[in-house]
Amino acid sequence: MTHPAQPKASHFINGAYVEDTAGTPIPVIYAATGEQIATVYAATPAIVEQALSTAKEAQKAWAKMTGTERGRILRRAADIMRERNHELSVLETYDTGKPLQETLVADASSGADALEYFGGLAGSLTGEHIPMGKDWVYTVREALGLCVGIGAWNYPTQIACWKGAPALACGNSMVFKPSETTPLCALKVAEILHEAGLPAGLYNVIQGMGEVGAALVTDPRVDKVSLTGSVPTGKKVYAAAAAGMKHVTMELGGKSPLIIFDDADVENAVGGAINGNFYSSGQVCSNGTRVFVQKGIKEKFLARLAERTGAAVLGDPQDEATSFGPMVTQNQMNIVLGYIEKGKEEGARLICGGKRADMPGFFVEPTVFADVTDDMTIAREEIFGPVMSVLDFDTEEEVIARANDTEFGLSAGVFTNDFSRAHRVIGQLEAGSCFINSYNDAPVEAPFGGVKASGVGRENSKEAIKHFSQVKSVYVRMGDVEAAF
Ligand code: NAD
Repeated sequence: MTHPAQPKASHFINGAYVEDTAGTPIPVIYAATGEQIATVYAATPAIVEQALSTAKEAQKAWAKMTGTERGRILRRAADIMRERNHELSVLETYDTGKPLQETLVADASSGADALEYFGGLAGSLTGEHIPMGKDWVYTVREALGLCVGIGAWNYPTQIACWKGAPALACGNSMVFKPSETTPLCALKVAEILHEAGLPAGLYNVIQGMGEVGAALVTDPRVDKVSLTGSVPTGKKVYAAAAAGMKHVTMELGGKSPLIIFDDADVENAVGGAINGNFYSSGQVCSNGTRVFVQKGIKEKFLARLAERTGAAVLGDPQDEATSFGPMVTQNQMNIVLGYIEKGKEEGARLICGGKRADMPGFFVEPTVFADVTDDMTIAREEIFGPVMSVLDFDTEEEVIARANDTEFGLSAGVFTNDFSRAHRVIGQLEAGSCFINSYNDAPVEAPFGGVKASGVGRENSKEAIKHFSQVKSVYVRMGDVEAAF
């Protein structure tokens, strides 16, 4: 019997599902059981061509519509997503293994927020009037054209919307390639957008591995590439886009610091560390995986952390009581277990977790290491799993220098009750998305993105508009033209 997660077809192009079984089959594995629940096929060159040519053509008329008309469609899509939140959350859980407790509040709802927010902004995208004496200059905010979105596997619905909503609001079209690990949810986003009235060809989804992504990035018809993925992939995609002088947004990985001072509220700091390490089983790019704790509260912090981490409920992710799900794939589980072994070998002190959970599926126990030092592998490399490293520190100056000593710069957090210190420290941290007495909030109203190797550009907020549009300036002369001859 066909599993309910099996999509109607692999791709969504020109307003309809399209299948081409000549492509490489991509099995969709449910991470909680290891069973195959669906199959899609990687895009063949013919499918890539169909998606790009249709998106290129459809964009022209879309850009000519008023922003208000475009926005109305996006806002209608947001409403449909909210109405279907439960069904979409169940699918997100099948796609990723993340517990329904999370997906019910963080995925389709976050996607709907983006559609609603950018739908609301679409009608207010205007240029400037610049007086020049008798003459003037006016500017026009124009669409870039055809945008490619490429997703990671941790937030398939959210990523499809975070890229699609601002792109469409600005008058662009999109070809979106989800991660081959989680191909299901973006198809639903395309389906809903079209149900909401999006003209055919403007939001297309095609499946495939890195080669399909690369074929999209290098196509001369593509004007912009927005990638969510790892730093090594980001470097390749950025270079390929540069060869065609394309616009880019790069949302990449991190190894973010979360700094907890002696005077912090311990319960809140522990809550922040849990949200910043164990949500989505640690598969979150902005996670604060280097938790620097000032020596005065270290043992108290660790004791409460171990107690509260022990309350995580591992189990069937479709059961709303489950609060902690599996790794997305067996491969990701093995990578995480490898890092845990490295942590043990290099002398970190295991506080809790530290192994694969004794149950079906790809579960790794939420793991905390203390006495971690800056040079240990688990403190330097992005693990993308539920492994928290707790490091000690003495002074503010010391911890700022150590926090910044990384190639990454996605996020950073500070817990303290001294507000002047909080702002002073955050002001010196090299990170794009920061938190004071909180961690991992990502509202659509706030810019999101990294500095250093963690990325280029910003998603969400009015900032995202700048990355999906360009400004044309027009000089208007009212008098005669003076020329040398
Ligand atoms: P990945 O880099 O392996 O893959 C990302 C996407 O790029 C996939 O769709 C993949 O098929 C595609 N791809 C791979 N090679 C390509 C190429 N040469 N050309 C074009 N596309 C190519 O990442 P992943 O394992 O899916 O996701 C985990 C990573 O994503 C982590 O590093 C994580 O930190 C990062 N991430 C970042 C954010 C953010 O917003 N900053 C959010 C989520 C995940």
